Amino acid sequence: MKRLVDILRDTHHLEAQDYAALLSAPNGDEVAYLRQQAQQVAVDNFGHGIFVRGLVEVTNVCRNDCLYCGIRKSNPHIDRYMLTHDEVMQCCQQGHDIGFHTFVLQGGELPRDKAQWIEELVTDIRASWPDCAITLSLGEWPRKVYERWHRAGADRYLLRHETHNLAHYATLHPASMSLTTRLQCLDALKQVGYQVGTGIMVGSPGQTLDHLVEDIQYIEQLKPHMIGLGPFVPHHDTPLAHHPTGSADITTRLYAIFRLMFPKVLIPSTTALNSIDPNGRLMGIEAGANVVMPNLSPALFRDQYSLYDGKAATHAEAAEGIKMLQGQLATIGYHINWGRGDSPVFCNNNSLNTNNP
Ligand code: SAH
Repeated sequence: MKRLVDILRDTHHLEAQDYAALLSAPNGDEVAYLRQQAQQVAVDNFGHGIFVRGLVEVTNVCRNDCLYCGIRKSNPHIDRYMLTHDEVMQCCQQGHDIGFHTFVLQGGELPRDKAQWIEELVTDIRASWPDCAITLSLGEWPRKVYERWHRAGADRYLLRHETHNLAHYATLHPASMSLTTRLQCLDALKQVGYQVGTGIMVGSPGQTLDHLVEDIQYIEQLKPHMIGLGPFVPHHDTPLAHHPTGSADITTRLYAIFRLMFPKVLIPSTTALNSIDPNGRLMGIEAGANVVMPNLSPALFRDQYSLYDGKAATHAEAAEGIKMLQGQLATIGYHINWGRGDSPVFCNNNSLNTNNP
């Protein structure tokens, strides 16, 4: 197996059965070698600095009904909120005062008429902090809306494909949603000129080893700028409440595989990983992750943005716990890199400016 790790590190590609072998090998020296090599490649490319992104959970209102997600529209047991324009600006101001240079606006999928609200927010954030990157994670929208937000100043977009297998996708989503639409959105985002992130939930109900290999192969051909992977964690008010939590081991193997495949890609060590294992954030970094996304949302609303049970949103997971995060990183010889942290492979050739002068 070490041979496969060396091939992946040197050529950035393996055959399907070899990815399956890396994911299914018993945990031991060889899997440790996979993680070590990935960590080394991350250090070679980014040093010991970890980029931070300030996450603002702008709303838990959602028009979609993903079966895994606690803020799905048919969950009647949560209070819905939408931050005001000023509240979002205050979150960013606080984040900027701390030193953040990327703001991530994430939320449920708002009614279509709220596109304007997001556009105004992006415009105002762009004008207020021209030195910062703006990332959106707001789900599926028509290409024209992605274009408007990009023109207003948004730089990056996160939209996980969740699973690349059609039948599996259909078991995790309502009939009104389709994998085809999701993949079209990702293509549109790339064409519009965003730095694009995709990814999956690891261990989502019904996921097989073959599905994971399909996901790896899809991501390999998409060549995203960011790859977000976290374990599935059940939420008690969803139809998938009784399914087991995904594995931290497989999650970090995937970080390592993607780091070796794409040495310069941005990989967050995710909140979900840290929520299922108190050491998760550091385990992720030791498998090649190079980004963390502390929560900048107003404390009052954090419990209501309940994607899954036990979601970490305080201490080192929160902006006010930044010193704790720095302390944790220091224990493994890392520090925060306060830069914008754009994707080093991002090339703006296909941006709106060149396509539509
Ligand atoms: N509505 C947007 C952004 C919010 S959800 C979107 O869907 O893209 C952000 C991510 O949280 C999703 O992509 C999903 O992968 C993850 N998520 C949702 N429910 C989860 C759960 N039960 N366990 C783990 N991750 C979950």
